[in-house]
Amino acid sequence: MFYFDAHCHLLPRKQFIKAMDAGITYFICNATHPRNWHKLLDVASTITGIYPCIGIHPWYIADLKSDWQVKMHLLFEKYPHLMVGEIGLDTTRPDLSRQAEIFEFCLKTALKYRRAVHIHGHESWGLITDILKCYPGLTCLFHRFSGTPSQAKQLSTVTNAYFSLMSVRPARYLPAERILVESDSPDGLHKPARVMELAERIGLDWAQLDANFCRFLGETMPMKGDAPKQLLTTQDDPISSQINLQNTPICSDKQSQPINSEAIK
Ligand SMILES: [Zn+2]
Repeated sequence: MFYFDAHCHLLPRKQFIKAMDAGITYFICNATHPRNWHKLLDVASTITGIYPCIGIHPWYIADLKSDWQVKMHLLFEKYPHLMVGEIGLDTTRPDLSRQAEIFEFCLKTALKYRRAVHIHGHESWGLITDILKCYPGLTCLFHRFSGTPSQAKQLSTVTNAYFSLMSVRPARYLPAERILVESDSPDGLHKPARVMELAERIGLDWAQLDANFCRFLGETMPMKGDAPKQLLTTQDDPISSQINLQNTPICSDKQSQPINSEAIK
């Protein structure tokens, strides 16, 4: 058995060391702005057990340099285990159309390089579902999920969905095999080791959570496990073959394949 934190923002290096001393072995860590991408990748290259993600968080879209998209693609070319995150939408924050433009660029990047996506969707799950319908086949981790059963069901219809929790309530209606736990440290639960107590309150044992964590990573990393079949069909997808993907409209009416929605109670 091992302990993991499915979503955090730890940096610098000593924060990981502290959390490891407290018993956490694996971390999925999200760098949410280009200024942190290399810092995280440097730390992840020296500590075993850090699974890095890079993205643009919807809160940090204001001061992006013009070359961020090229940089992002270069890093995905270079690092076969790198994931996409944290990205998403937040209707409580300004400039939703710019948020959506960035979100969609990152989703296209995820499809192109066949990577999992870590999604922030505060108060925005309906809109996010509509956008994800345009990108069928993605494996997504919906971070700090606290939406309704019907929102969870819809997200599970359009993606290979996992739900990372920081509270107890959603565990009552989510399938146990789709649940992960997270600290969102240094905010959120403040310390990664608090996921141990959270798991206890949720009532899931770590054997189940560890199995979920391994399945999630196995399904999302072509180099570490089997890539999901649906992602293997996107190779010739013209939408993901170019780096310059500005001004992409939000589309909401494409068909998508149900994946695990039946399991949502
Ligand atoms: Zn976060």
